[in-house]
Amino acid sequence: MDNTVESSVDLGFIEKCSDLCRLNRCYFPSKLGGKPAWLDPKHIPSVEDFICQSCLKQMVFLLQIYAPDGNNDKAFHRTIYVFCCKTGSCYKHGDNQPIKVLRCNLPRKNDFYSYNPPDYDNLSSSEDRGNIASLCHVCGLAGTKTCSQCKVINYCGKEHQRIDWKFHKPFCVESDTELHKKPGKERTYLFSENEIIIEAEEDFQDEDKNVESNAKSKTAAASLFDENDLQEFAGMCKEDKQFLKFQRRISHEPEQIIRYDRRGKPLWCSDNFIPQASNIPPCLCGSERVYEFQIMPYLLSHLNVDTTVEDETIDWGTIAIYTCSKSCSPDVSNDKLSYIPEFAWKQTYS
Ligand SMILES: [Zn+2]
Ligand SMILES: [Zn+2]
Ligand SMILES: [Zn+2]
Ligand SMILES: [Zn+2]
Repeated sequence: MDNTVESSVDLGFIEKCSDLCRLNRCYFPSKLGGKPAWLDPKHIPSVEDFICQSCLKQMVFLLQIYAPDGNNDKAFHRTIYVFCCKTGSCYKHGDNQPIKVLRCNLPRKNDFYSYNPPDYDNLSSSEDRGNIASLCHVCGLAGTKTCSQCKVINYCGKEHQRIDWKFHKPFCVESDTELHKKPGKERTYLFSENEIIIEAEEDFQDEDKNVESNAKSKTAAASLFDENDLQEFAGMCKEDKQFLKFQRRISHEPEQIIRYDRRGKPLWCSDNFIPQASNIPPCLCGSERVYEFQIMPYLLSHLNVDTTVEDETIDWGTIAIYTCSKSCSPDVSNDKLSYIPEFAWKQTYS
């Protein structure tokens, strides 16, 4: 029997980028780490929006996915941003606090980008078009403070000025402003920067039926054990089922870091802690949110987190991202809302 099922899922993979210009915002990148490539470069979110409610430390930019909405002219350009806390102990089971999601839309005709697509064959680093806000040199959030000596480098606040000082000090007195803007070496605050490339998932074999019959024969074998063992075994079989399904599906492409299937269903890693519709809050505009993509555990092995420092071991089974079904656009009179909050659901292995 042929159990091949067509997949509607797109997968995201990490691609080492030979030319980091490709990740400038003018090329509408999907990317991992580094600073965010802000779609709207004028109304940048500020640091207050990114304080983890558990540890009160600032969250770090994790990734962004460029995902235009073909049904909405105002979302001709559309990017989803994900930030996360770097404190391991904030990743408790059943707690979505350490993840923060934002969405930004722009129509095709806008103040910042050409109406025509960019020329991907002739990459350039120039991206100064329109009125652009200053960014923090360390984290890329709104840089409202300026180094008082050189008045060239901006920071989101005192904390990032402090951690940047040993890198910035030698350049602070230089008059060459380009030198100032060079990224400092050995910065570990940000996750390392790579492109995310998106490819369609190939059709897969649906082996669910085989699993069910396996489970049955296991249950038959279990009749040899006493009642307690049997109950424990049954619980394990049930538990294993969603986890096995998860493992089997990703085993075809084990290096996937993103599964993208807007309005589809996430691939949960466990039977536990799957959200009900009532667990997904509506968008600020009042519309329901729909599932859009999920972040996979393989990504964890690529984050330069120091696993020898106990509290830096961040962890998840999968993170499902839910976004406004209408891709609503913000009220233009409210600058702060150019980046609209969306919702993340973190699932851990049981
Ligand atoms: Zn935290
Ligand atoms: Zn900063
Ligand atoms: Zn300075
Ligand atoms: Zn909305």
